[in-house]
Amino acid sequence: MNLILLGPPGCGKGTQATYIVEKYDYVQLSTGDMLREAIKNNTPTGKIVKNVLASGKLVDNELIIQIMKEKIEETATSPGRIFDGFPRTLAQAESLNALLSQNNLSINLLIELVVDQEELFERITKRASESDSVRDDDNADVLRKRLDVYNKETRPIIAFYEKDFFVNKIDGMQDISTVNKLIDKLIENNTKH
Ligand code: AMP
Repeated sequence: MNLILLGPPGCGKGTQATYIVEKYDYVQLSTGDMLREAIKNNTPTGKIVKNVLASGKLVDNELIIQIMKEKIEETATSPGRIFDGFPRTLAQAESLNALLSQNNLSINLLIELVVDQEELFERITKRASESDSVRDDDNADVLRKRLDVYNKETRPIIAFYEKDFFVNKIDGMQDISTVNKLIDKLIENNTKH
Protein backbone atom coordinates (compact mmCIF):
# COMPACT_ATOMS: atom_id res chain seq x y z
CA MET A 1 0.00 0.00 0.00
CA ASN A 2 1.38 3.39 -0.99
CA LEU A 3 -0.81 6.12 0.38
CA ILE A 4 -0.23 9.81 -0.24
CA LEU A 5 -1.72 12.26 2.24
CA LEU A 6 -2.20 15.66 0.70
CA GLY A 7 -3.25 18.94 2.27
CA PRO A 8 -1.88 22.22 3.63
CA PRO A 9 0.32 22.62 6.70
CA GLY A 10 -1.71 22.03 9.85
CA CYS A 11 -4.45 20.01 8.13
CA GLY A 12 -3.75 16.94 10.28
CA LYS A 13 -1.61 14.82 7.94
CA GLY A 14 0.93 13.98 10.64
CA THR A 15 -1.71 13.11 13.24
CA GLN A 16 -3.56 10.85 10.84
CA ALA A 17 -0.36 9.24 9.57
CA THR A 18 0.64 8.30 13.12
CA TYR A 19 -2.69 6.62 13.65
CA ILE A 20 -2.50 4.64 10.38
CA VAL A 21 1.04 3.52 11.22
CA GLU A 22 -0.11 2.10 14.55
CA LYS A 23 -3.10 0.32 13.15
CA TYR A 24 -1.67 -1.09 9.92
CA ASP A 25 2.04 -1.37 10.65
CA TYR A 26 2.87 0.86 7.70
CA VAL A 27 5.83 3.23 7.72
CA GLN A 28 5.34 6.97 7.81
CA LEU A 29 7.58 8.78 5.36
CA SER A 30 7.42 12.36 6.58
CA THR A 31 10.07 14.52 4.95
CA GLY A 32 9.38 17.22 7.57
CA ASP A 33 10.19 14.76 10.40
CA MET A 34 13.32 13.55 8.57
CA LEU A 35 14.56 17.11 8.11
CA ARG A 36 13.85 18.04 11.75
CA GLU A 37 15.74 14.93 12.85
CA ALA A 38 18.71 15.94 10.66
CA ILE A 39 18.65 19.43 12.20
CA LYS A 40 18.47 18.01 15.72
CA ASN A 41 21.47 15.77 15.03
CA ASN A 42 23.34 18.59 13.32
CA THR A 43 24.14 16.43 10.27
CA PRO A 44 25.46 17.99 7.04
CA THR A 45 21.89 17.91 5.65
CA GLY A 46 20.61 19.43 8.90
CA LYS A 47 23.03 22.34 8.55
CA ILE A 48 21.90 23.01 4.98
CA VAL A 49 18.18 22.97 5.71
CA LYS A 50 17.91 24.62 9.15
CA ASN A 51 17.30 28.13 7.88
CA VAL A 52 15.05 26.95 5.08
CA LEU A 53 12.66 25.28 7.53
CA ALA A 54 12.70 28.30 9.83
CA SER A 55 11.73 30.52 6.88
CA GLY A 56 8.78 28.39 5.75
CA LYS A 57 10.23 27.93 2.26
CA LEU A 58 10.79 24.58 0.58
CA VAL A 59 14.02 22.62 0.66
CA ASP A 60 15.58 21.94 -2.79
CA ASN A 61 13.86 19.24 -4.79
CA GLU A 62 17.11 17.41 -5.46
CA LEU A 63 17.95 16.98 -1.80
CA ILE A 64 14.42 15.89 -0.87
CA ILE A 65 14.21 13.42 -3.76
CA GLN A 66 17.55 11.88 -2.78
CA ILE A 67 16.33 11.43 0.81
CA MET A 68 13.09 9.86 -0.40
CA LYS A 69 14.90 7.54 -2.83
CA GLU A 70 16.89 6.09 0.08
CA LYS A 71 13.78 5.75 2.27
CA ILE A 72 11.80 3.91 -0.40
CA GLU A 73 14.68 1.48 -0.88
CA GLU A 74 15.08 1.03 2.89
CA THR A 75 11.39 0.23 3.31
CA ALA A 76 11.20 -2.26 0.43
CA THR A 77 9.69 -4.99 2.60
CA SER A 78 7.17 -2.82 4.45
CA PRO A 79 3.47 -3.65 3.95
CA GLY A 80 2.80 0.01 3.30
CA ARG A 81 4.12 3.55 3.16
CA ILE A 82 2.35 6.76 4.02
CA PHE A 83 3.78 9.76 2.25
CA ASP A 84 3.25 12.73 4.54
CA GLY A 85 4.51 16.12 3.37
CA PHE A 86 5.94 14.63 0.19
CA PRO A 87 5.52 15.27 -2.69
CA ARG A 88 5.24 19.03 -2.35
CA THR A 89 6.12 20.14 -5.90
CA LEU A 90 5.37 18.86 -9.39
CA ALA A 91 9.02 17.82 -9.78
CA GLN A 92 8.74 15.74 -6.60
CA ALA A 93 5.46 14.17 -7.76
CA GLU A 94 7.05 13.17 -11.06
CA SER A 95 10.11 11.77 -9.27
CA LEU A 96 7.92 9.79 -6.91
CA ASN A 97 6.22 8.09 -9.87
CA ALA A 98 9.64 7.16 -11.24
CA LEU A 99 11.01 6.00 -7.85
CA LEU A 100 7.99 3.82 -7.21
CA SER A 101 8.05 2.20 -10.61
CA GLN A 102 11.80 1.53 -10.33
CA ASN A 103 10.94 -0.46 -7.20
CA ASN A 104 7.95 -2.21 -8.79
CA LEU A 105 5.57 -0.18 -6.67
CA SER A 106 2.76 2.21 -7.48
CA ILE A 107 0.44 4.69 -5.81
CA ASN A 108 -2.61 2.91 -4.38
CA LEU A 109 -4.48 5.64 -2.57
CA LEU A 110 -4.54 9.44 -2.56
CA ILE A 111 -6.29 11.37 0.17
CA GLU A 112 -6.62 15.14 0.42
CA LEU A 113 -7.50 16.62 3.81
CA VAL A 114 -9.45 19.78 3.08
CA VAL A 115 -9.26 22.50 5.76
CA ASP A 116 -9.96 26.22 5.42
CA GLN A 117 -7.17 28.71 6.00
CA GLU A 118 -8.70 30.45 9.03
CA GLU A 119 -8.92 27.12 10.86
CA LEU A 120 -5.30 26.40 9.97
CA PHE A 121 -4.15 29.62 11.60
CA GLU A 122 -5.99 28.67 14.76
CA ARG A 123 -4.50 25.21 14.82
CA ILE A 124 -0.94 26.33 14.24
CA THR A 125 -1.17 29.15 16.75
CA LYS A 126 -2.43 26.66 19.30
CA ARG A 127 0.37 24.22 18.44
CA ALA A 128 2.92 27.04 18.84
CA SER A 129 1.60 27.91 22.30
CA GLU A 130 1.87 24.35 23.57
CA SER A 131 4.94 24.14 25.75
CA ASP A 132 6.27 20.98 24.12
CA SER A 133 6.16 22.34 20.59
CA VAL A 134 9.64 21.84 19.15
CA ARG A 135 8.91 23.45 15.82
CA ASP A 136 10.55 26.78 14.93
CA ASP A 137 8.09 27.14 12.06
CA ASP A 138 4.90 27.13 14.19
CA ASN A 139 4.21 30.83 14.29
CA ALA A 140 1.81 33.08 12.41
CA ASP A 141 4.40 34.76 10.15
CA VAL A 142 6.03 31.55 9.03
CA LEU A 143 2.64 29.90 8.68
CA ARG A 144 1.53 32.64 6.29
CA LYS A 145 4.62 31.92 4.22
CA ARG A 146 4.02 28.16 4.36
CA LEU A 147 0.42 28.55 3.23
CA ASP A 148 1.55 30.80 0.43
CA VAL A 149 4.15 28.23 -0.67
CA TYR A 150 1.50 25.51 -0.39
CA ASN A 151 -0.94 27.39 -2.61
CA LYS A 152 1.69 28.19 -5.24
CA GLU A 153 3.84 25.08 -5.33
CA THR A 154 1.98 22.20 -3.74
CA ARG A 155 -1.70 22.68 -4.53
CA PRO A 156 -1.08 22.17 -8.30
CA ILE A 157 -0.02 18.58 -7.68
CA ILE A 158 -3.63 17.71 -6.84
CA ALA A 159 -4.70 18.52 -10.41
CA PHE A 160 -1.61 16.64 -11.63
CA TYR A 161 -2.73 13.49 -9.79
CA GLU A 162 -6.35 13.92 -10.82
CA LYS A 163 -5.32 13.32 -14.42
CA ASP A 164 -4.50 9.68 -13.60
CA PHE A 165 -6.02 8.91 -10.21
CA PHE A 166 -9.04 9.51 -8.05
CA VAL A 167 -8.13 11.91 -5.24
CA ASN A 168 -10.35 11.16 -2.23
CA LYS A 169 -11.33 14.38 -0.45
CA ILE A 170 -11.98 14.30 3.27
CA ASP A 171 -13.26 17.29 5.21
CA GLY A 172 -10.37 17.82 7.63
CA MET A 173 -12.44 20.20 9.78
CA GLN A 174 -14.17 17.22 11.36
CA ASP A 175 -12.81 15.83 14.61
CA ILE A 176 -9.74 13.63 14.51
CA SER A 177 -11.58 10.36 15.15
CA THR A 178 -14.15 11.02 12.39
CA VAL A 179 -11.33 11.70 9.94
CA ASN A 180 -9.60 8.53 11.21
CA LYS A 181 -12.65 6.44 10.47
CA LEU A 182 -13.04 7.82 6.96
CA ILE A 183 -9.39 7.14 6.18
CA ASP A 184 -9.73 3.68 7.66
CA LYS A 185 -12.63 2.87 5.40
CA LEU A 186 -10.69 4.00 2.33
CA ILE A 187 -7.70 1.84 3.30
CA GLU A 188 -9.92 -1.16 3.96
CA ASN A 189 -11.74 -0.79 0.66
CA ASN A 190 -8.43 -0.42 -1.08
CA THR A 191 -6.77 -3.47 0.44
CA LYS A 192 -9.79 -5.79 -0.02
CA HIS A 193 -9.22 -8.49 -2.58
P1 AMP B 1 6.18 19.62 7.42
O1 AMP B 1 6.55 19.03 8.73
O2 AMP B 1 5.77 18.61 6.41
O3 AMP B 1 5.17 20.73 7.55
O4 AMP B 1 7.51 20.30 6.84
C1 AMP B 1 8.20 21.33 7.53
C2 AMP B 1 9.15 22.05 6.58
O5 AMP B 1 10.11 21.13 6.07
C3 AMP B 1 8.51 22.67 5.35
O6 AMP B 1 7.96 23.96 5.63
C4 AMP B 1 9.70 22.73 4.40
O7 AMP B 1 10.60 23.77 4.74
C5 AMP B 1 10.42 21.42 4.70
N1 AMP B 1 9.91 20.29 3.88
C6 AMP B 1 9.23 19.20 4.33
N2 AMP B 1 8.91 18.37 3.33
C7 AMP B 1 9.38 18.95 2.20
C8 AMP B 1 9.35 18.61 0.83
N3 AMP B 1 8.74 17.48 0.40
N4 AMP B 1 9.93 19.46 -0.06
C9 AMP B 1 10.54 20.59 0.34
N5 AMP B 1 10.60 21.00 1.62
C10 AMP B 1 10.03 20.19 2.55
